[in-house]
Amino acid sequence: MILYNTLGNSRQEFIPYEGNKVRMYTCGPTVYHYAHIGNLRTYIMEDVLEKYLRWAGYDVTRVMNITDVGHLASDADTGEDKMLSGAKREHKSVMEIAKFYTDAFFSDCKKLHIKTPDVVEPATSCIPEFIHMIEVLLEKDYAYIAGGNVYFDTSKLENYYVFGNQNEEDLQVGVREDVTEDENKRNKTDFVLWFTKSKFDDQELKWESPWGLGYPGWHIECSSISIKHLGEHLDIHCGGVDNAFPHHTNEIAQSEAFLGHKWCGYWFHVLHLLDKRGKMSKSKGGFLTVSLLEEQGYNPLAYRMFCLQSHYRKPLIFSFENLDNTVIAYDKLTSRIAKLSKDGEADKEAAKSYQDKFKKALDNDLNTSLALTALYDVLKANDIDDATKRYLVDDFDRVLSLGLIDAADEIIRKEQEAAAAKEALKNAFLERIGLNRKELGEHLAQRLAAKAQKDFAEADRIRDLLLEKGIRITKDNKDGTTEWEINE
Ligand code: AMP
Ligand code: ZN
Repeated sequence: MILYNTLGNSRQEFIPYEGNKVRMYTCGPTVYHYAHIGNLRTYIMEDVLEKYLRWAGYDVTRVMNITDVGHLASDADTGEDKMLSGAKREHKSVMEIAKFYTDAFFSDCKKLHIKTPDVVEPATSCIPEFIHMIEVLLEKDYAYIAGGNVYFDTSKLENYYVFGNQNEEDLQVGVREDVTEDENKRNKTDFVLWFTKSKFDDQELKWESPWGLGYPGWHIECSSISIKHLGEHLDIHCGGVDNAFPHHTNEIAQSEAFLGHKWCGYWFHVLHLLDKRGKMSKSKGGFLTVSLLEEQGYNPLAYRMFCLQSHYRKPLIFSFENLDNTVIAYDKLTSRIAKLSKDGEADKEAAKSYQDKFKKALDNDLNTSLALTALYDVLKANDIDDATKRYLVDDFDRVLSLGLIDAADEIIRKEQEAAAAKEALKNAFLERIGLNRKELGEHLAQRLAAKAQKDFAEADRIRDLLLEKGIRITKDNKDGTTEWEINE
């Protein structure tokens, strides 16, 4: 598989550190508000990556943190803790909003068919591990204490800008105008590992530490939680592209300083979902959530398909018009699948060439839109039967997770329900006019017999007789049956 690796800024062959084991880490949500559909674009694409790796035969373990402490208003370690401002906004405790928005996040994920990672760990449950890591960094002289806080000293590294493409503008990431530069820092790029003092001293959650009562910086949690569950060698680290700097850059700095060797092989970054105002963001407000889409009548899986239609390394512009087009495509797709016969056995040998096409698409830096094309090719194919098509749809959907078979079965169920309701209506009508099914069948058979003998006058007489009773003949089928409607 070829993956674009931000480390090296190039497409690279994906080779896990150890055999076919893939250790994957995902930056989880900061749970001070609902996840917006931009955040969820990132989680959808990461989910496809994980599921594709499993589909392709890798043994994947995926870990995700929940950021419930230490993520400040600015990614440059200044401003108020986002959790605290969320708690103030809602007049609740930090732990109350953490619980509420963590549950809301997983409920959104469920609706979008995003699998829960094998391990999910909130930052607040790993404080001893963070403290240990910071102690080691201090021992190794990669960290220093200043003004009561512990900082990582980026000047100790040969190359801090590992992704190589940061500029002055990136350095300003998230820095708000009302936030002043932290004077304790020896270098502009140094970052906080542990706070005991900050401009905002009403931090709700604090823990005892060798440096006094305080709380961890944001970056330490991802390094520590990842190493705790996935060991010293990570294969893929995922996140939205805004996390590349400074968050992931800092994660690499402290993890490699702590471990003394290279830590993570591949950095998978998803580009942003944009709306008219630019990057969708929680702090700007006015963002869209899964619940809002549902309130507007959208199936969350149509949003998932919307994401899959474009490549994860391109910014994606959201508009309701674009989503409407995807809804039409989703409905057409599932209706087509509903028409596939359920009879017979799949020909797994014949299915292979289609699976190869699907694999080729995703091996090409997770090209999900080409993978969707491979799915359409299955439905269009002339050389495989319906059972094989259904088998392939089901197989591809292990990765795409668009709920295709379920949606198609639901269409079939609704069609059957509508047909049964229509039959019941017709039966009630026949009863009302005093004609039973058998008698009607005889009339229809006589009419067809007359037609067959080219006695059109007789055929028309029967047709008109039935019409008088309120039965309008609509179609003669090749199999000798006649369709009719109630004509009142
Ligand atoms: P947060 O909850 O703010 O920590 O962000 C959760 C994830 O969403 C991170 O991986 C971010 O990089 C990502 N993210 C934030 N905004 C967007 C956006 N507009 N589009 C795509 N991903 C985003
Ligand atoms: Zn992270």
